[in-house]
Amino acid sequence: MASIEMRGLTKAYPGGVTAVNGLDLTIADGEFFALLGPSGCGKTTLLRTIAGLEQATAGTLLLGGRDVTTATPGKRDVAMVFQDYALFPHMTVTDNIAYPLRIQKMAVDERRAKALETAEGLGLETLMDRRPGQLSGGQQQRVALARAIAYRPQVFLFDEPLSNLDARLRLEARTFLKQLQGELGVTTVFVTHDQAEALAMADRMAVMEAGRIRQVGTPRDIFHRPINVFVANFIGSTPMNLLPAVVAGTTEGAHLMLGDMRLPVPATAADLLHDDGEQVLLASRPEYTDLSTEERPDSLSGKVVVVENLGATALVSVDTGGQLVKAVVPEGKEPRIGKPVWVTPQHSRALVYRLADGLLVARNEESVTDGRTASVMT
Ligand code: ATP
Repeated sequence: MASIEMRGLTKAYPGGVTAVNGLDLTIADGEFFALLGPSGCGKTTLLRTIAGLEQATAGTLLLGGRDVTTATPGKRDVAMVFQDYALFPHMTVTDNIAYPLRIQKMAVDERRAKALETAEGLGLETLMDRRPGQLSGGQQQRVALARAIAYRPQVFLFDEPLSNLDARLRLEARTFLKQLQGELGVTTVFVTHDQAEALAMADRMAVMEAGRIRQVGTPRDIFHRPINVFVANFIGSTPMNLLPAVVAGTTEGAHLMLGDMRLPVPATAADLLHDDGEQVLLASRPEYTDLSTEERPDSLSGKVVVVENLGATALVSVDTGGQLVKAVVPEGKEPRIGKPVWVTPQHSRALVYRLADGLLVARNEESVTDGRTASVMT
């Protein structure tokens, strides 16, 4: 197995797009690493550059400590699964899965057994004699996954490998992949649009924007401590509340003014705000925003405007005087539309971002969790 080390890794396409821009990142041997970011941020390009399908235009790439920056794909021992499966149309499922093993000159019986064993894990065992044209998109995608898995390379590179599966299959395949990766210990880079998938599967993840990495950390780091407003907006199944506020009263102990409503500074930013009049964003996930139908201190008052049913919970939107604040409440506790309510960002969970640069207000040591440093590159 192998670690992946990028130093100043850059890929500029002819015509001026710098899709990957000076990345410094080390992915540990055996790690499941997710790359997350909006469309066009450079995720696929980075994966293709690691695979050797694109040539880096600057920087260095090491696999297992070996400099492979200019090595051909065949010399890298990586298996990549693309969004568009790239299966051989004239071969059966068995032969597609076993193809890399044939190239490795494994005996026919052995490679057929290995293909079947891998296919079983992905629910493909009844389709072994079909050709790709006789399969659904989701089945083809699983065949492509099985082909990569059967081959057991040093590194798996997965580009949205579950995107064509329906919701149930996607969850099943996710669990299978995660378990298998743990068992095999193959270093894995997994590209996805789906932040829930990244949070669920990754040991660590990076959030990319415009060819750069904005934050690297464990899913927990990134969920609880998004390092800037971009990451805060991007991560979370319901968008973070980002409420414009002004710092006041710094001489006697700072507080935040949201219009004419006054709130305490969250614990995470206590003693870190020193300038009266500084504009900030008070950030609070709907899951960590309390809602009460009785007046409460240190709360924002408002009226319920929308209630969305999320199954075991409901998402309540509260108009607090032009600013919508969302709170998650347990099923059965939804207030009715129009009801006056009080919403409170949880003191220990809420965060503050400076409006000037969009960065999180935090003590340095607080952005270190799980023994790893959350880092930011701008
Ligand atoms: P998506 O999630 O939509 O697949 P992505 O994050 O994977 O997006 P990339 O496909 O890596 O993004 O593209 C990054 C940038 O590079 C985009 O601006 C894209 O238009 C550009 N790009 C990708 N391939 C090429 C190419 N062959 N030539 C020129 N520009 C390209």
